Amino acid sequence: MKLCKPDLYKLSDDGRTMLLRAARCSRCGGLSFPAANYGCPLCGAGPECCSEEALSGEARLLEFITIHGKVAPGITPPIVVGEAELAPGIIEEIELAVPEEALTLDMIVQAVPIPIERDEESVLACRFIPKGAL
Ligand SMILES: [Zn+2]
Repeated sequence: MKLCKPDLYKLSDDGRTMLLRAARCSRCGGLSFPAANYGCPLCGAGPECCSEEALSGEARLLEFITIHGKVAPGITPPIVVGEAELAPGIIEEIELAVPEEALTLDMIVQAVPIPIERDEESVLACRFIPKGAL
């Protein structure tokens, strides 16, 4: 099955989790996600200085909220979204695949592949679940 956003993540070897495609800069040593095609957003080095570094997909959940209203075409509410720290200093919006009741602040969540429908085609999206539920 195809990935929904292959520039952001890839399947792990066993296919049970998603690895996040971050970039490591050889000039400043900084890590950035998502990888920017112009290079390092931290020090301005060009793309030739950046190499891909896969993150495990483990993240610390900083906040979360359930959205009941209509979000976007193809997405059926309610959905649970949150913010998570994917690596030290890297905080991104994430979508969770479990109800809010299963979540607590500061819990460790894991990126996993979840099939969704997009343009009448099934693709694998990246969603997060509590690490302990894996
Ligand atoms: Zn840099």
